[in-house]
Amino acid sequence: MTQTEYINQAEEHLLHVYNRFPVVFDYGKGVHLYDTDGKEYLDFASGIGVMAFGYGNPEYELALQKQIQKLTHTSNLYYHPPLAEAGEKLCKVSKMDKVFFTNSGAEAIEGAIKVAKKYAYLRDGFAGHEVIAMDHSFHGRTVGALSVTGTNHYREPFYPLMDGVKFATFNDLDSVKQQVTDKTCAILCETLQGEGGIYPATQEFLEGLRSLCDEKDILLIFDEIQCGMGRCGAMFTWQLYGVKPDIMTTAKALGGGVPVGAFLVTDNVAKASLVPGDHGTTYGGNPLVCAAVAKSIDLMESMKLPEHVQELTPYFEEKLQRLTQDYEFVLGYRGMGFMQGLLIDEHIPVGQILTKALDEGLIVLSAGGNVLRMLPPLIMDEAGFDEMEVRLRRVLDVIE
Ligand SMILES: *Cc1c(COP(=O)(O)O)cnc(C)c1O
Repeated sequence: MTQTEYINQAEEHLLHVYNRFPVVFDYGKGVHLYDTDGKEYLDFASGIGVMAFGYGNPEYELALQKQIQKLTHTSNLYYHPPLAEAGEKLCKVSKMDKVFFTNSGAEAIEGAIKVAKKYAYLRDGFAGHEVIAMDHSFHGRTVGALSVTGTNHYREPFYPLMDGVKFATFNDLDSVKQQVTDKTCAILCETLQGEGGIYPATQEFLEGLRSLCDEKDILLIFDEIQCGMGRCGAMFTWQLYGVKPDIMTTAKALGGGVPVGAFLVTDNVAKASLVPGDHGTTYGGNPLVCAAVAKSIDLMESMKLPEHVQELTPYFEEKLQRLTQDYEFVLGYRGMGFMQGLLIDEHIPVGQILTKALDEGLIVLSAGGNVLRMLPPLIMDEAGFDEMEVRLRRVLDVIE
């Protein structure tokens, strides 16, 4: 079938909630994807930060194949070896104490909110607590996660959302303090805002949040769903700041390509929040995804991917710096590690660049505020960054 035929077949049956690019991907290898006509694309999106090891890692594939042949689902009424293994490994690399596996990022956020609410409920003896979240944040599309997502056009049609959410300005500690009341149970933010436009947190902001939370017995939640799992040069980005949350969420790259997320808590929080009966999931943490999580963490460590990201970041940033110098409408760049954004002048819609980049065989993303977002697989090497620069220049050369 031609790509157009696949697209027509899909559009006839799928609920139209995405404006998809007109390309039909068939398979991937390393840092490249191939469409059904065999055209090659260099991947600087990783399926939105998921495919940390790129495509076709033989060790990863073998681990999943073996698990599929053994067992893919048991429910959470029982134990299975991959669950024990994934739990131990994730707690170790995250430096958190207890984990709950979910099927998505949004569900990890839902769980984190429930933990914070239950913690405050047990402490105070009554419910009705509040969460402070950030403007321009993104935490997912379920009703709870949407309630703490600071982008109006995602939210408005679905009011009323969860009650008791207040918004503050990211990187502005005073604006957070102004929203604190006796009822505040949690402060939630991404360590590095992704969808909102690639805004890294400042050191002072995260330290300030930590002190504020300690002072008032408020739980600090870091959403590491996009920026975590090695992407910024540490297993989790808060580790680079030395500011530890009480609750952390992860997903996207956690399983190297299978749908899995998790929320993790410290021992203190675990002892004083959710108990049996408070939370659950049918699929969450099933043998297949847990085998993927365990293998992903092994690979992160054996391939030294956080270290690789740290080493290659200057090379990546040098390219972004040169692009900023050479094109008037590229206003600058910001980010950390392999999570970077090129700031594009408002008169050039970034979507136009994305479409042309695909024609040139380069997959990139956008983010809020007309940002061209790049999330390459963590295995990207110098040759890959060189290739990105060549292809992106071909696109930018014809933009006006
Ligand atoms: C993608 C994302 C989510 C939501 O994850 P889903 O798996 O799409 O539900 C939440 N928070 C952040 C920071 C994300 O980037």
